[in-house]
Amino acid sequence: VALKRIVALVGGVGGAKLAYGLAQLIPTQDLTVIVNVGDDFELYGLKICPDLDTILYTLSQRVDTTNGWGVAGDTTAMLETLRGYGEDIWFRLGDQDLATHLLRTHMLHNGHTLTQVVTHLAQRMGITARVLPVTDAAVPTMIDTIEHGELPFQTYFVRHRWQPQVRGVRFVGAAQAQVSAEVRAAVAAADAILIAPSNPWLSVAPMLAVGDLRAQLLAREVPRVAVTPIIGGRAVKGPAAKLMGELGFAPTAQTVLDYYGTLVNGFVYDAQDQVSADDVRLYRTNTLMQSGEDKVKLAQNILDWIGRW
Ligand code: GDP
Repeated sequence: VALKRIVALVGGVGGAKLAYGLAQLIPTQDLTVIVNVGDDFELYGLKICPDLDTILYTLSQRVDTTNGWGVAGDTTAMLETLRGYGEDIWFRLGDQDLATHLLRTHMLHNGHTLTQVVTHLAQRMGITARVLPVTDAAVPTMIDTIEHGELPFQTYFVRHRWQPQVRGVRFVGAAQAQVSAEVRAAVAAADAILIAPSNPWLSVAPMLAVGDLRAQLLAREVPRVAVTPIIGGRAVKGPAAKLMGELGFAPTAQTVLDYYGTLVNGFVYDAQDQVSADDVRLYRTNTLMQSGEDKVKLAQNILDWIGRW
């Protein structure tokens, strides 16, 4: 298979790792990174897009590598001042990070689309890959919990540190929303479609729920490959394995593969796991990405593997 144009669907931290590896190998607009916006929310009137910012900060190499999000070395003077005013601070907004939210909110108020805002920010950050929000519409993810009922995503994820027990997930407005024209065109032109090792239920499902994206992807007879976020029965980070258990699934790579079903025709899983499938090509390799080298190596391995299809 001749691979030129690659589309990757990504969430935040796990998605950013693969996106980074791909961007080192495809340093052009041939790489399109489509990003989840189900985590987006408003705080003090500011529009915050956690997954988009994680991708932008990672691709521009300004990310705080310890956390995997936020700007390296960022200060928190603004937050400390708010705390002094008696505010309950539960979401961290660094001072440099704040500039991103201010400019984004300002541009949105002036009539720009989120796609235009992200394109502008990516360009100013020196990013050559195309970074696209999956939609310009608001499609907030709601998490139904046993302890607190339905919570907005960030309230569940950050305020309650994903500890509540989840019994359902809902993507408000997603069915009525449309993917952007840019996303539609990128999917239509892709030589291969990758689903990053992002949380299938909380990062990937919110994208697949937007308009007819799932049908658009299914209609493409090209490699459609997901990478497991579950290694050895555990999430590398975050609530994926815990959530799978709460929703009644075994926390395994096999569950992830079964969850994607016919959407994928290829699946990358970790060397320490076992999966089986009839109609899906399987690739077993080391999928843990710790160093920058690991990220490039996994991206290269996947592209080489797909190239041999
Ligand atoms: P979030 O929105 O910041 O939670 O980020 P994502 O949904 O993109 O990524 C979270 C998922 O990434 C988790 O389920 C992790 O298990 C997975 N993940 C993180 N690092 C790695 C890694 O190095 N390798 C693999 N295979 N998965 C990873």
